[in-house]
Order: sequence, then C-alpha cells, then structure tokens
Amino acid sequence: MPAGQRKGARAKLRAHFLANIGRVMGSDELRRVSGNVSEWARRVRELRTEEGYQILTHNDRSDLKPGEYLLLNPTPAPAFERTISKETRAFVLDRNGFTCQMCGAVAGEPHPYDPSRRTRLQIGHIIDKSMGGKDDPSNLRAICSVCNEGARNLTLDRPSLRKLLIQVRRATGADQLEVLRWLVRKFPKHAERFLKGVRA
Ligand SMILES: [Zn+2]
Repeated sequence: MPAGQRKGARAKLRAHFLANIGRVMGSDELRRVSGNVSEWARRVRELRTEEGYQILTHNDRSDLKPGEYLLLNPTPAPAFERTISKETRAFVLDRNGFTCQMCGAVAGEPHPYDPSRRTRLQIGHIIDKSMGGKDDPSNLRAICSVCNEGARNLTLDRPSLRKLLIQVRRATGADQLEVLRWLVRKFPKHAERFLKGVRA
C-alpha cells in the first residue's frame, strides 16, 4: 500500500476516535471509516504504538468484547514513553516486579481501583522531567495507566517502615492474612527460610 494511502486511513481513524470519545466501536464501523482498507486494524495499532493514543480493547477491559475499541482520553501518552528502548523498558519492569510503584497493581491483573480494567504498566519518571529528572533507568519506574493518568507530577512517596507496620497492625485479621499471602507469593524462598527458623 502506498504511504499516502496508509497515512490517509490512519488520519481518518484518528479523527473518528477523537470525535467519538467514550463510545465503544466495533470492527465493521472502523473498517468502513478507514475507507475499507484491509489493514485497518494495523492502522489502529499504529495510533496506539506510534502516536500514543490509549485505545482500549478487550485486553485492557473485561467489559469489551474482542473486536471492540474504545478511546477515553483524547491526550496521547508523551512521546518519551513511545521512544524508550525495549531493553530499558524490560529492565525497569523486571526490577519493579511488574508492579505499579504507586498503587501496587500487578500487570495483567484486574486493577484494584477499577476491576473492569486490566492493569497495563507504563514507564514513568520518579522525578518528573519538568523538575529536571533524567531518562536514566535510575529515574524510571513501572506505573499503571490508572495512576499515570492522575499523577504525572507526583514524586514517589514511599511510606516509612514505622508507618507501614502501624497500618498493618491496625488492619483486620483478614487483611493481615492477605498481606501475608502477598508477601509469601512475592518472597517464596525467604518465607520458607523464615518458617524453618520459626519451627527450629
Ligand atoms: Zn497504579
């Protein structure tokens, strides 16, 4: 397909998404809007991967069926997130245990604040670029799309150990057990060693 035709189909799809914020659209409609090009789905993907539009599918939200698309936010993600190298991205996600560093949501699992959304992780800055933060992995962290939408300029605020322990001690027994389950899953080897010490 000539580049001009490809750009034309993508532009038509972009304009249609922006004119239909918040409305779920099916594949038939999008194919028609693209001018019936066979690669309309690839053009939609490019709007996501190259232009940063957060077009949601059934992979993001369990209330969408396969073949349904939804754009809620007209503002594309910053170009930085699209140009960051695969290696850096993988390194930061792995270091952060594929867990949002603000709310603790885990990649691919239903989001704790909005269970209809599956957690999608992005790479964000710890110190925002507008405050002089660098693109270096030491200044990057995994952050979910829900937190990222509201927290672009917030710095990471970890609770102190003392405050954290107070919170856990005040929680219900059921919630404490949930914390224990989460910690055992996260640190299985430590848990095993710890239990051996307790039994001895
Ligand atoms: Zn989050």
